[in-house]
Parts: sequence; C-alpha cells; structure tokens
Amino acid sequence: MSTKATVEKLVSLCKRRGLVFQSSEIYGGIGGFWDYGPLGVELKNNIKQAWWRAVVQERDDVVGQDAAIVMNPTVWRASGHLDTFADPMVDCKECKKRFRADALVGEVAASAHGHEAAAEVTRCPECGGELTPPRMFNLMFKTYVGAVEDDASVAYLRPETAQGIFVNFANVLTATRKKLPLGIAQIGKAFRNEITPGNFIFRDREFEQMEIEYFVKPGTDEQWHQHWVEERYNWYLRLGMHKENVRVRQLDRDELAHYAKDTYEVEYLFPMGWSELEGIANRTDFDLRRHAEFSGRDLEYFDEETGEHIVPFVIEPSAGVDRLFMAFLIDAYDEEEVRGETRVILRLHKDLAPIKVAVLPLSRQEKLVPPAREVWALVRKHWMSQYDDAQSIGRRYRRQDEVGTPLCVTVDFDTLEDQAVTIRERDSMEQVRVPIAGLVAALRERLEAGD
Ligand SMILES: [Zn+2]
Repeated sequence: MSTKATVEKLVSLCKRRGLVFQSSEIYGGIGGFWDYGPLGVELKNNIKQAWWRAVVQERDDVVGQDAAIVMNPTVWRASGHLDTFADPMVDCKECKKRFRADALVGEVAASAHGHEAAAEVTRCPECGGELTPPRMFNLMFKTYVGAVEDDASVAYLRPETAQGIFVNFANVLTATRKKLPLGIAQIGKAFRNEITPGNFIFRDREFEQMEIEYFVKPGTDEQWHQHWVEERYNWYLRLGMHKENVRVRQLDRDELAHYAKDTYEVEYLFPMGWSELEGIANRTDFDLRRHAEFSGRDLEYFDEETGEHIVPFVIEPSAGVDRLFMAFLIDAYDEEEVRGETRVILRLHKDLAPIKVAVLPLSRQEKLVPPAREVWALVRKHWMSQYDDAQSIGRRYRRQDEVGTPLCVTVDFDTLEDQAVTIRERDSMEQVRVPIAGLVAALRERLEAGD
C-alpha cells in the first residue's frame, strides 16, 4: 500500500514507464510544468472519464461545457482575482532566492492563498541574508491578445475553470430549459504562477481541473453541500482508494476563501502528509452577484413555484486531475515477494488502468505470431491493449503488473491445437484457459463487472 510508495519511487516509475516526464526535459526542464507520456495520458483520460461519468452521465441534474482558457479580463476583476489572488513574496538580497512569506512563517496551509502578508521571518533560510519586505505577487499568468502589447490588450490565462461556468450560467439555463438545482461541469486546464511549485505533480503551474458549479435555491444550499461532500468522498472509495488514506475535513473559519460560507476538503495521505485532493465549497451567491454587477446583465433565476426572482447559491466540488493522478498511483503502488523476487504492482482500479489487456505470445517463435496477432486484433477493438513479445514471459508479466494492467492474454503452442488462450489476472496471478471464440466475453465479464 501507500507506505511503500515514496515520491522518489513514483517519479522513477513514472519516467521509466512513460507516465510522466519533466516538461522540455532536454533543455533542462521548466519548474512546475510536466508532460504526460503514452501511459500517463491514458490514466489521466480514465480519471477524467470516471469523473464525467459519475457527475454528468449518470445524473439528470448536471450538464457539461467547455469554456475558453482566455476570457474577457473583466471576468477577473469581477471574480476578485485581480485584486486578491496573490501570495506575499520576499526575496533574499544576498542569494536572490524567492520565497513565499507565509511558507517561511509556516503557519498558513499550503493550499491557502494568503491575503495578508505574514512576514515575521527577516533572514533567508538558505544563506542567512537579509530579506526584502513582502510584496504581493499576483498568481495569474499575463499575456496580450492581438498585435499590440499595451494595457488595453492584457489578458490572463485562467487560474480556475469555475468563472467560465458562472459567465455561461444564463446561456446554459436558457439552452437546456432546466430547473434548479442545476449543475454545470467542466474539465480543463488552469494556470497559476506559483512562487514555489513542488512535490512532483502535486503543485503545478499548469494543471487540469474538474469542477462543478451546482446552482441551488438559497436555503437548500447546506443540504446540497452535504450531498456533494458524500458523493465526492464515495467516488474515491468506489475507484479503489484505501479508506484509511482518504478523509473529509471541514475547514476552519480562518481557512475559508473570502467568497465561501463553508468548505470541506477531501484529503489524501500523501507521503508528505495529508493534503487536499478536492475542495467542496459553498460559494453562496457571491459569483453570480459580482458578474451581474460587473456585466450589467440579469443573472437571476425565475422560480416558477414562488413567482420570485432569485440569485442561486452555488456548491462547488473542485478537484485537481494531476494530484488525483498522483494519489491514485501512490494508493495503488505495492511491492511483494514472489519466488525470491520483488514484484512491483499497481493495483489500479480496472476503470483507471492505462492498459486493460496485454496480449503476449509465449515466445517469438514464428508459428505463434499469426494467432497472437489475431487475438490482439480481436481485443483492441474493445479495450486499450498492448502487444508485447520482447523478453521472457515472466519479465513481460512483471512489466504489465508494474503499470497496473489487470489482464494478460497468453498465446502458446497449445493454442495452435485447441484454439484457446490463457487469461492471467494481475492481483491474484491466477490463470484460466478460455477458447478464443469466447475470449471477448470472458474479458468483458472481468473488466466490466460491477458497472
Ligand atoms: Zn539567501
């Protein structure tokens, strides 16, 4: 379990097996940016699909959307990001290193973006040099839209996907003719110029969010808040996370963002300690009121039951794909002794595993190639699969275990006689012989059980 997975082991596995690479590594990389390799993109897509399925596909009260990353800059004035989305920063006058003042004090939770500078530390922790007074440093990446780089053309890479939902609330409501409660879900990239990114993909400068803004009638907000806390917590357990490694924590009053009435976090026990996977906030009517004020548009909802115009309250479950990716990997990581050797195994839930089925001819013997290729052609139409004929069969099983492939199908010399193959299961290593004619059904039974 997670006790065996250190961040170092994880980084090494991720690079070796093509899950995660440092961005632009051949140029020395760039801090806070990461690339997902052939297996990483599969796992990431599977996490997003599992989320979308649970919060959009299987519900009748949530719809999806996909807003642009660059928005009218007034959005960020209305949302408060231009004024308050900042961290206090200090520089060392000697070694020129830059630190977050609140991190030096060490009291403010790592995820909270402090609004007041807490600079009691006056000496550089690296060299003992004198520190500058704290300055507020806005975390939004700035860019220019169009040919002229002047103040009128400044735009920002969104620091969260949420605002793209708030500004589309009226559009979605009109287009779908839905009633409250109504959720709008979105998955997309967001960007924060963190002063100190770190812990592998846990805190990135470019990352992906999965957010829902769930609009409810005022007065029902607390009840829906509880609903979403339970829903989201249970989603992690359904996808196989160990219960002892996941918890829900209600934030203290002084930890709340300025717009929040109440917030819960789903936290995971990472190697560096309990840290946030997902925040579930009651944002009240703050955002819709601000956008109505700054845009001059009517963002109210007409309640047909009471004949009143209301400004909905919002419950926001907001998760980070990259840190979920890291948590699922850590949670699935296991090592066990098999015949005097250490078997590294990712016990990933079958819905998350990058490769569902590996097709392995027993050897590279010519006679085995046609039937093995035929079996692969059968399988790949249904699931993400891999064909591997390099090295010994034992080594190939280990390679699949290490990336969490739930099932291997082995084509051997008996196959030429009996038209059957062996299915080998990752966790139990049990093997069962099935006819090729029934292979797809046998795999489906194992991969889709419980759906
Ligand atoms: Zn220094």
